[in-house]
Amino acid sequence: MLYIVPTPIGHLGDITHRALEVLAEVDIILAEDTRITKRLLSRYDIQTSMKAYHAHNEHQVTEEILQRLAGGENIALVSDAGMPGISDPGFMLVRACRAADQDFTVLPGPTAFVNALVGSGFPCDRFFFEGFLPHKKGRQSRWKFLASFPHTLVLYESPYRLMKCLEEIHTHLGPDRNVCVARELTKLHEEFHIGTAPELTEWFETHPEKVKGEMVIIIAGE
Ligand code: SAM
Repeated sequence: MLYIVPTPIGHLGDITHRALEVLAEVDIILAEDTRITKRLLSRYDIQTSMKAYHAHNEHQVTEEILQRLAGGENIALVSDAGMPGISDPGFMLVRACRAADQDFTVLPGPTAFVNALVGSGFPCDRFFFEGFLPHKKGRQSRWKFLASFPHTLVLYESPYRLMKCLEEIHTHLGPDRNVCVARELTKLHEEFHIGTAPELTEWFETHPEKVKGEMVIIIAGE
């Protein structure tokens, strides 16, 4: 059996009893970065061995994992934080399991955009999850597409591109849409900054110390 196991996005307490049981009992944990997952395992005194599974080796390793699963091993997949498969490796392995009729299950748990979306206070009955925009090629055409979408938009963004992103929201979606920058969710310095793109640009320009950490950008619909 393959278990897709979400892990905390900041606060190490945000993991379910079942996830801990699975991580302790499987034969091996596939981890995006074994050093990061080691911190979580140490916190809960879990000794299970790990194997690297990330964007650079998922093609090569998938076949081997399928063989191990077929041979009766129990395997867990985790990413550095949150739900595997959401802007993280996971999709290829799940697809391969389906194609091979291999059993798997997805445990429920943290994923950053849900906290950001709900905490923004913007309508979340309908929304579009964009994840990371392409850094260069294709970025402008994604903005053109997003501009045509009337509902709440959800983006993952690096702090290095926050100011550029706010400028692009202004250019492509206009100066009036409400925007929420949700930073450091579940961590000590969790913050939600809300305003129009020009207002947030001005605020972050005068508070450059806040242009850091992990962030999700939510844009209210039209
Ligand atoms: N699999 C993860 C999930 O389920 O949310 C997402 C992984 S993606 C590689 C990392 C991005 O998620 C970050 O750049 C940021 O946009 C967002 N993120 C992760 N943890 C966060 C946190 N604690 N606060 C705000 N954003 C976070």
